[in-house]
Amino acid sequence: DTRVKRITETITAHPDFPKPGILFRDIFSVLAEPSVFRDLTDVLTERARAARPAPDVVVGLESRGFLFGTPLALALKIPFVPVRKKGKLPGELKQVSFTLEYGSDVFEAQVGNIKAGQKVLIVDDLLATGGSMKAACDLVTSMGATVSLCLVCIELGDLKGKEKLRHPFDTIVKY
Ligand code: 5GP
Repeated sequence: DTRVKRITETITAHPDFPKPGILFRDIFSVLAEPSVFRDLTDVLTERARAARPAPDVVVGLESRGFLFGTPLALALKIPFVPVRKKGKLPGELKQVSFTLEYGSDVFEAQVGNIKAGQKVLIVDDLLATGGSMKAACDLVTSMGATVSLCLVCIELGDLKGKEKLRHPFDTIVKY
């Protein structure tokens, strides 16, 4: 797929960011190239259309998941729902705690936005250890919904994050 090739070539890599030893993949370089961002949105939409069961809501993970989840939800003509870090969302919330490399964090979603029985597509920019995606799956499942697909733009294969997930997974680019 020439579109995937262009997307792969456009993503920049930054050694020793944000910490020594980390090679940071910068997805914002794609957003700076409108035709490549178009390609990425189109490919994400195709992968989402292939998901079974078909999703009836898109959940995006704070914050870069919002950038890809919102055009995806528009293209699929289904709702977009944010999952955010603790303290950012108003109203009645459902929470999940999860551990990170250093310390822990909490994800929240608004009750009512994700309904029991719904099929959910969860989207984020990148899968590293898989901790964030796994926590989002747990949150969605705790609300009685089913995860139809975990979809990311970039997978860092060495970290084996995919092995943490108990649900279908797809990525556009793998390093
Ligand atoms: P995980 O929970 O899978 O270890 O980490 C994934 C989360 O960390 C994603 O939300 C992603 O935005 C962020 N992240 C980790 N490493 C990178 C990276 O190299 N580039 C970008 N853009 N995000 C990263």
